[in-house]
Amino acid sequence: MTTTGAATPPRPFAGFGDEAELDLDLASPRVAAQVVKRLLSPDFEDWSTAVARVGSCTNPIHLTGTSTRVDAGTGEVLSSYSSDSEPLGTTLIRCGNRRADKCPSCSRVYAADMFHLIRSGVAGGKGVPERVGENPLVFATLTAPSFGHVHGKRDNGRACRPHAKMSRCEHGRLTTCLAKHEDGDPLLGQPLCWECYNYASHIVWQWWAPELWRRFTIALKRLLAQRLDVREAKLNDHVTVQYSKVAEYQRRGLIHFHALIRLDGPKADEGFAPAPGWLTAQHLADLVQEAARSVRFTAPPVLADDVDRVLAFGAQADSRPVKVGHRTDDPNGPLAPEQVAGYLAKYSTKSATDTVDGEASNSHLRRIQTVAGEFATLVEDEWAAAGMPCELKELTYGLLGKWHTALGFRGHFATKSRRYSVTLGALRRARRRAQALLADAQRTGIPVDLTAMEAQLLADDEDETTLVIGSWAFAGIGWDTEGDVQLARAAAARAREYAQHRAEIKRVAGQSN
Ligand SMILES: [Zn+2]
Ligand SMILES: [Zn+2]
Ligand SMILES: [Zn+2]
Repeated sequence: MTTTGAATPPRPFAGFGDEAELDLDLASPRVAAQVVKRLLSPDFEDWSTAVARVGSCTNPIHLTGTSTRVDAGTGEVLSSYSSDSEPLGTTLIRCGNRRADKCPSCSRVYAADMFHLIRSGVAGGKGVPERVGENPLVFATLTAPSFGHVHGKRDNGRACRPHAKMSRCEHGRLTTCLAKHEDGDPLLGQPLCWECYNYASHIVWQWWAPELWRRFTIALKRLLAQRLDVREAKLNDHVTVQYSKVAEYQRRGLIHFHALIRLDGPKADEGFAPAPGWLTAQHLADLVQEAARSVRFTAPPVLADDVDRVLAFGAQADSRPVKVGHRTDDPNGPLAPEQVAGYLAKYSTKSATDTVDGEASNSHLRRIQTVAGEFATLVEDEWAAAGMPCELKELTYGLLGKWHTALGFRGHFATKSRRYSVTLGALRRARRRAQALLADAQRTGIPVDLTAMEAQLLADDEDETTLVIGSWAFAGIGWDTEGDVQLARAAAARAREYAQHRAEIKRVAGQSN
C-alpha cells in the first residue's frame, strides 16, 4: 500500500540519529562477525571518520602520496597535504559510480548533479541565462512497441486484459486477465504466455533503440525546417534543438526514452538564444509527436536464416509542454521544471541490473538475457564460420554478448546535446574548487564571498594562479571486508534519511506559508 498526496504529514523520524538502528543486512554469519569486529575494533573512530570523509562511498579508491599548493606568482607554499594525515593513512576518493545498486552514496551525488544539469537547461542557473526558460520546451516519452501481451496496471482501476478474441492461445494459456494488479505485484510486466512473446524482436528493437533515437532527432529537424520554410542545411541559422534524455527500463524489460527537448534560436557562440516568438511549446510538442511517429528503421536479420524487421517507436509517444514557474499536481497538466528534473535525475541512476537482479527480477527478464546471450553465441559462430574480421562486428549484432546483461540495450543512460546546459564535468570541477576555497578560508580565517562564488566556481578556465605539485600512488580499492561495505552502506542510508527528513520539513514549511 502506498500513500501519496500533498496532505501526507512527515513520517515520524528515527532514521538518522545516534540512537537509530543501522540498516544492516546480517543474514550471513560471516558478514555479521565482520561487522561486530569492526564496531569493537580500537580504531573504529578512525575508520568511521574515514567513511564519513568519503561520503560513505561503498567502493572508494585508496591513494598514498603528497601534494603541495604553490602560488604560481610568488612561489609561496599555500598548503601541503599528505595521505599520512588521514585516519587510515590513505587518501580515499569516491568511486563515483552513477548506479544506485553499486554505490548508494555516489549515485546520489550523480543524481544531484544530473538534477542541476537538467534544471539549469529548463530554468537557467549554473551559468545558463534565465531567459532560456522562455524558449519552447517539451517533455517527451518515446516508448517501445508491444512484443506480446504482458500483465499491466491500467488507468482508472480497470482490469489487466479483460477482452481478447480468443480466451486461450495455441499453448493453452489464458489470453485474458481480469486482475487489477497493484504496484509490487510480481506478475507486472510478465507476458501472459512466454511462448507467444516475441523475444527475438524484443531484443532486436532494444539493440537498435539508440538508432531510433538518432533518427528521431533527424526527423524532428526536418519537420522544423518544413515548418519554418527553410532548407534543412540552413536550419541552424534560425533555430537549434537542444535536449537531455535518459533511458529507463520498464517492468517488461524494454527501455523508454524520457527527454526534455528545447528549441533555441539561431546557433550563436554563447548559445541559448531566444526562439522565434510565434513558435510555441505546443507547436514543438506536436512536431515531436509527429517526428516520433514517423521514425522507421529496417533492422538487418540477426542470423542468416532470420528476417528483416521494420522497427518503430510505440504508439503511446507522449509529449507535453513544460511551463516554467508552473506548479501542478494534475497528472495531465503541464509539468514544472523541478518535477521533470527530478524524474530524469532519478531514472539516470537506475540500470538493467536494478531491474534484473533486484526486487523486480523475474523469469521474463532472465529469459530476455538468456535469449540475447544465445543470439550472441550464434552470431559469433556464424562470424567465425564465415571468416569475418572482428572489426566489423560492431556493425550489426557482433557485440550483443557484451550487452546481454543490459537486456540488449547498448546506449547511454543519460545524454544531452552540447548546448543543453552545463556539463557534469563543470559541476564536478565546481565542487572541487569549492572544497579548495573552504580549505583556504579555514586556513586564512578570511570568510568566503558567497555572492560571486557560483560564477567563480563554474568558470571555464582552470585556476592558473596556484600550482599543485604532488606525487600519488594507487593503494587499492574498496573496504577491507563485506562487513565494512555493509556499514558504509548503512551510513549512506542514514545520510539519505536525514536529507529526506530535512527536505520534508522544508516542504511542509513551504506549504504552511
Ligand atoms: Zn562510491
Ligand atoms: Zn494480468
Ligand atoms: Zn501462447
